[in-house]
Parts: sequence; structure tokens; C-alpha cells
Amino acid sequence: MLILLELDTPREDIEKIKEKIIAKGCNAHEIPGSSKLAIGITGSTSNLKEDDFRIMKSVQEVVRVSHKYKLVSREMKKEDTVIDINGSKVGGKELTIIAGPCSVENHDQIFKIAEILKNLGIQFLRAGAFKPRSSPYSFQGLKEEGLDLLAQVKKEFGLNIVTELLNPYNTKEVAEVADIIQIGARNMQNFALLEEVGKTGKTVLLKRGLSATVEDLLLSAEYIAAQNNFNIILCERGIRTFETSTRNTLDLNSVPVVKKYSHLPILVDPSHGIGIGEKVPAMAMAGIAAGADGLMIEVHHKPEEALSDGFQSLAPDTFENLLNKLKQLAPVVDKTLG
Ligand code: PEP
Ligand code: MN
Repeated sequence: MLILLELDTPREDIEKIKEKIIAKGCNAHEIPGSSKLAIGITGSTSNLKEDDFRIMKSVQEVVRVSHKYKLVSREMKKEDTVIDINGSKVGGKELTIIAGPCSVENHDQIFKIAEILKNLGIQFLRAGAFKPRSSPYSFQGLKEEGLDLLAQVKKEFGLNIVTELLNPYNTKEVAEVADIIQIGARNMQNFALLEEVGKTGKTVLLKRGLSATVEDLLLSAEYIAAQNNFNIILCERGIRTFETSTRNTLDLNSVPVVKKYSHLPILVDPSHGIGIGEKVPAMAMAGIAAGADGLMIEVHHKPEEALSDGFQSLAPDTFENLLNKLKQLAPVVDKTLG
């Protein structure tokens, strides 16, 4: 259920409404918006009567939300969510490009790639310190040492850091370094982890699970929002299908569908989506054409030497070419690229 109020509603009236919600055994969430103030109600709302709230002072409208996910739904908030990360906006008119290697490998590698990306005008550096690998014998990431390197590179180049949180025990140390905490595909339904990351208040990049539906993805985002953290960026990274000629099947259908049902921004990760470096630019363009708010792309200064996902990583010159093409495409979908 959703209660709509004028933006200038006195605090006293807001608190009275919230008290009544809590007294009925439900949770009240103030939802930020630019034209209206909304209070989302979660919990067993079947016991609530709309009219009990309609008669309260300052209440303009009371609406039932029909989807299983509530706080992240378009019904709850009509306008798109725009997230401000140290002055860079995600979800607005400007496309967001997150780029970098799959993993932090060593000092020289991450500094070299960060320098290249900074010179190309990139504001978000991605790189995993904790890596979820299908095989226990594959490179698992530099872990704490990787986080230290990310902290150094952030200081040197002023880039926003996007890095994955694999398990709840590392939440504090990852949150200290990350400007955006990534929750990977394999953890999309690790609900304890989602609650933990929600509590940090940090922006979360939530990647779609390997066999998750769009509804599953939005319900996982709801776990984070239920912690009163609305700084959530969704990411389409491909799903498992019967097709074996590509690593995954990049389900670009999800982009306009998510836009219809949710106010959250969505990025496309064509690198994991197709898994073939030379085909990544085509799917990156397709993602933007489908209406994504930006891209997450794996870039490595020497893809052939990468310790993980080298085959799908772009070399800097290919990445630069792609950026130039994206600049031409952006205005077609009413976006800009700086
Ligand atoms: C990654 O971004 O490197 C990664 C492991 O992604 P995913 O969780 O989508 O497989
Ligand atoms: Mn990867």
C-alpha cells in the first residue's frame, strides 16, 4: 500500500501516519521523490483499511500496489530513480559507463587500466577483489589485498569504485572502499547478503541471476529497498538458455520490461552477456538501443594475459571505438554521453 502526501507536509503529520502504520504491525518507508512525498507500507497490509488512512490529515491518496514487489515498483514511484554518486548521476539523461578488468590482479595492472580509463573520461572503475568462480581451482581474487589496491587507485585517480561483495562477513571492508557494491549473479538470491548490503546505505549494483526471471530480480531488489536503501542499480548480464554458442543469452527484453514495472535504473553487461570480446560492442550498442541507463564492460590492457574473463574483455582501443559509437547512438535514445 502507498500513501501520497504533498511535498511540504508537516513532519508532525508524517510521523502520525507512520505511527499508525507501525501500530498495525506493518513497516513504513518514506520514499524520496521530487513532486510528491510517498510513504510505502510493507508487511501484512491485508489487515489495513485504505479509509483509515484517507481520513488522516495531509493524506491525498491511498493506493494498493498490485505486484509482489512494492517499494521498487513503478506503482510506488512514477518517476525514474536517479542516484547521485559523488556528483555522477546514474539513471538520468547521461549514460553511465562502468569499465575495468574482471579482477584486480596486481598493482601495475590496476593502475595501468585505471589510468587508461581515466584518460577516456570514465568515472566508474569496476574490478573484483573477491571473485565468485565456478571452479575452486580458478583464481579467487586478491581479496583484502585487492581492496587495498582499489583504495589506492581510487585515491590516485578519483575514480568511483565498483567491486563485488561475496559474503556478509566482508561487508564492512568492502563498503569502506566501494562507491557501488556489486552483488553478483550467483548471489542475487542470497537474501541474508541482500539485507546486509541494504543496511550499508551504499549504492548496490544488483546483477540478474543466471536463471532468474525479471520478477525474481525485482523481488531481490525489494530486499535491499526494505532496508530503506533505494540506491539500487539493476544489471542485465545474460541468463542460461539452451544456446551454447555464447556464454549466456543477453536478455535485452528485460530492459524495457524493468522500465515498465520499476523506477530503478538498469545497466546492461554485454561482457558476461555474450562472453566473446569481439562481439561485445554489438551487444553494448543493442543494450543502449533497448533503453538501458548505461553499461558495465570488462576492459583489460592485455586481455590475453588476464587472470579471469580475458576472452570477453575489450582492449583499450576497441573500448575507445565503442565509446565513440555510443556517443553517436546516445541522442537517438534521448540520452547523452559526456
Ligand atoms: C563479474 O562482474 O565479473 C561477475 C562475476 O559477474 P556475474 O556475477 O554477472 O557473473
Ligand atoms: Mn568477469
